[in-house]
Amino acid sequence: MEHLMCTIHLKKLGRFDRMKGEVNMADLRENLENLGKIISEKAEVVSKKTGEVVEVVAKKAEQTVEITKIKSQISTMQRNNQRDFKDIGKIVYEKYKKGEVVDEAYIELCEAISEREESISKSKEEIAAWKGLEVCPKCNSHMDADAAYCPKCGEKVEEAKKSENEERFEEE
Ligand SMILES: [Zn+2]
Repeated sequence: MEHLMCTIHLKKLGRFDRMKGEVNMADLRENLENLGKIISEKAEVVSKKTGEVVEVVAKKAEQTVEITKIKSQISTMQRNNQRDFKDIGKIVYEKYKKGEVVDEAYIELCEAISEREESISKSKEEIAAWKGLEVCPKCNSHMDADAAYCPKCGEKVEEAKKSENEERFEEE
């Protein structure tokens, strides 16, 4: 069977000599040479195309790396500018508190900041006043932080919720 398959293929590549019962060898050699040339030409085209694809992919990767690098530099510069803008604001605000700022535009912003600072300090005092006290999740009554049940409505106080609240206060 294998021999038969071989004969069939060889017959395609060279004239079959019926007298000798075999394929014309000169024919076969020439055709095989031609076939070899065609294969190596095709391989060259494929290899060239593969090379081009590799080049394009490498170029794209290089671009991506460059763009990422530039973008990172931009965000560093933007972050530094934000920091310096903030510092300018702090310097102006310090001058405002000493009464050294005369520009209307600055004064308006400084007053707004000053009002917020007062509110913040009042809020912190408020927290201090409530510290150690718990608010009932059911009836909103105040109770001792270590109370297991609300003295007004009898609601059971969850341990998890209590410790969570304590942590929050400690962060302030
Ligand atoms: Zn309650």
